[in-house]
Amino acid sequence: MKDSQAKATLLSNYKIPDFLINETLLKFELFETHAIVDSSLQFFRNVEGADELVLDGQDLELISLEIEGQPIPAGSYEVTESSLTILNLAKILNKDPDKFTLKCVTRIEPQNNTALECLYKSKRMFCTQCEAEGFRRITYYLDRPDVMSKFTTTIIADKASYPTLLSNGNLVASKDLDVDGQDSVRHLATWEDPFKKPSYLFALVAGNLSCKEDVFSTASEREVALKIFVEDKDVNKIDHAMDSLKRAMKWDEEVYGREYDLDTFMIVAVDDFNMGAMENKGLNIFNTSCVLANPLTTTDAAFQRVEAVVAHEYFHNWSGNRVTCRDWFQLSLKEGFTVYRDAEFSARMGSPVVKRIEDVSFLQTVQFAEDSGPMSHPVRPDSYIEISNFYTVTIYEKGAEVVRMINLLLGDAQFRKGSDLYFERHDGQAVTTEDFVCAMEDSSGEDLSLFRRWYSQAGTPRLEINGHYDESEKTYTLDVSQSCLPTPGQDKKLTFHIPLKIGLLDKLGNDMPLLQRENEELLEIDCVLNVTNENQRFVFVNVEESPIPSLLRGFSAPVTLGFQYTREELSFLAAHDNDGFNKWNAGQLLFLDVIDELLKMNSNNENLFIPSCLYTTFNCVLESALTNQECDKALLAYLLTVPSIPFLIERSDVANVSALYKVREFILESLAFRFKIELERIYFDTAESLINPLSVSGDDIGRRMLKNLCLSYLAYTDKGLSLCESQLRSSRNMTDQTAALRGILNSGDENAEVLRESVVLEFYERWKDEPLVIDNWFSLQATSSLPGGLGRVETLLSHEAFTLKNPNKVRALIGAFCGQNANNFHLPGGEGYKFLADQVLKLDAINPQIAARLLVPLTRFKKFEPSARALMLNQINRIKATNSLSKDVFEIVEKCTI
Ligand SMILES: [Zn+2]
Repeated sequence: MKDSQAKATLLSNYKIPDFLINETLLKFELFETHAIVDSSLQFFRNVEGADELVLDGQDLELISLEIEGQPIPAGSYEVTESSLTILNLAKILNKDPDKFTLKCVTRIEPQNNTALECLYKSKRMFCTQCEAEGFRRITYYLDRPDVMSKFTTTIIADKASYPTLLSNGNLVASKDLDVDGQDSVRHLATWEDPFKKPSYLFALVAGNLSCKEDVFSTASEREVALKIFVEDKDVNKIDHAMDSLKRAMKWDEEVYGREYDLDTFMIVAVDDFNMGAMENKGLNIFNTSCVLANPLTTTDAAFQRVEAVVAHEYFHNWSGNRVTCRDWFQLSLKEGFTVYRDAEFSARMGSPVVKRIEDVSFLQTVQFAEDSGPMSHPVRPDSYIEISNFYTVTIYEKGAEVVRMINLLLGDAQFRKGSDLYFERHDGQAVTTEDFVCAMEDSSGEDLSLFRRWYSQAGTPRLEINGHYDESEKTYTLDVSQSCLPTPGQDKKLTFHIPLKIGLLDKLGNDMPLLQRENEELLEIDCVLNVTNENQRFVFVNVEESPIPSLLRGFSAPVTLGFQYTREELSFLAAHDNDGFNKWNAGQLLFLDVIDELLKMNSNNENLFIPSCLYTTFNCVLESALTNQECDKALLAYLLTVPSIPFLIERSDVANVSALYKVREFILESLAFRFKIELERIYFDTAESLINPLSVSGDDIGRRMLKNLCLSYLAYTDKGLSLCESQLRSSRNMTDQTAALRGILNSGDENAEVLRESVVLEFYERWKDEPLVIDNWFSLQATSSLPGGLGRVETLLSHEAFTLKNPNKVRALIGAFCGQNANNFHLPGGEGYKFLADQVLKLDAINPQIAARLLVPLTRFKKFEPSARALMLNQINRIKATNSLSKDVFEIVEKCTI
């Protein structure tokens, strides 16, 4: 670790750039050992009197440097590890440096780039990933998002090896080049992007790819060519991405009034990719896992992910590209807004309630954990050492919740007016989250001054609510108090503006009117209460009977909630709440209450038993599954799902993993035995209703979800293993095969061992040519909760299909094991922690971004008992003591040990 690397960048130090770049001309010559990058940049002065040009640049070999056609004499510029500075511009130019052209040639080695940033090679393909600061490893540049320039890019490469040459914008020239004395023919393509963009949106691809084409007619009747490029073997897996793209384009026109602006929109699928996908202008680059989909090889969850990610990246064309971020502290400006947009899109395409349940479960499990750990940071952070570490669930998912709250406070019509104003006012600009909030305020007249604290304060606020019914006055009173625990660097929190959506249910489960008295007048109020003070009282009048409150409907704010419900009330809400999300949530609260009771029994060495109310509630859901064919099957599946171990860990003050695991297994097993007949009936009925095994319609995905949820319970019974085996052998659908294999890999049945070995081998042999299926296969083994998990994962590290160089493989095996297999990862001797630290150190030398992400489970040390906490911290300290750590990993271990 070098001192220079550990320096934090601060929001408070932001200064506008001294110079801007009007035009960027790039020429890439790609060879098998290296690449030559020729850049010609037209600068103009942005700050009066500026006379020194500081460009970003890293790991570059500078070949030549010219200004206004003249070489710059040595001594007039300085090169360091991270910059190139040209001193005394006026003197070199013999005039004020108001406008000048700088030409620069650099040499880079994409072939040796394992970090998968900037320009690198994935298999036989050259591709780029420039966000956030990769472009500076291509050439010297003002590599910051508030410098927006027009790009023209020429790519030259061997024609036989790289017939496809792509960059941003429109293709303006392509031709073969004759080179005397060379056998192979090189060719050239020139792309021109008419829209100004920051360097992080630059993209280049050179490879041998097959393309699927389609056309989209925009609302103003322009034809846009849509092209998805993949390896030849994958052309049968891109229909779903293409359909998703067209749906997303149409939705963005209808819901946000946003049309696409170029003649062509391209997506390229890449095997080795650090993230899900990247929204480069007109040329999105995707991890294959987020674009390829075919029911024979792809699970339903992956199908839904493809649709969501294709939409997300497409939506960035406006929320991110046309209007971009001023600096990286504003990352949530584009990510929070775009995640919100893609979530609403997915909700509209499928079941809104189920989408909300999935998003909130993820937020509560992963973002709440981040908020209570050492990496806690606001939606708009104040400082960072390595910006790659801030592509977090807080920036993305909590950022989306913040936008969702603005929409709730303003209402749909005003929110749309606000987003129209935002796009109109800031088109072509690099702006801040403050500009976004201002546009929302200016268009609606709402005062969001208190609300802004959601951007600047970290931590998860808590609401404590008490309800009181006054029989004689016919009033119902809610006393609401809010608080938020300190987070690193923020000891005291100011109050938040929390939209609290509620309903009051009568005995039949109907919503009562919400009436308040104001100056003797009776007002029917909106169901969203504005909680802005530390303590606040809301009194409802003319309440004819004691109501059951339904609180925080639709999860109207990213907070935790304390309200003393009885189990009867929770059962009632789980059966009757008109808000689908709260219906599910009430069932989860009941599970949690029972889990807490069982944990107490367990710690007192008492025999565990399930209270009858849980059986009653569970039975009620099963009955609606059996009798009502119309109900949402995916929602039913979620209503029958016991909270996950990672979620249980997150909500514990101090988690005892083995006790949580034991109690959770006891509940699953008890429910499975008690309701074996019903679960079997639902399983077979649903299986029968699935007429086409390869259909991925929303309804059929829901059916499979319910069927396989039943299978996961039945796996605890004597018939479980044979059911799983027959489903695995008979099904052609990958979701069904995955569920069956998971059942076998987690089965404690004594006959399972031999079967396990054979099905694991068979599955591998069958799918070894499909890397994404093999990722799934690694994950299924890595998350098996049977004892001995660490040993199994260690063995798989040397499997022929595994490599640390491919991020998908790393996530599928190591990431899944450490993040989702709690009882095998948290071994009492700390072997799991040591394993993770070993892998992080190995990876850090290859790919620092992925190493830093992988480290996350160790950063949750505060959640565990003192002995486990100490063992986790030992490993963090061991990493910290290692020489030459990347900034990425250094920043995280540093924050853990403050
Ligand atoms: Zn994004």
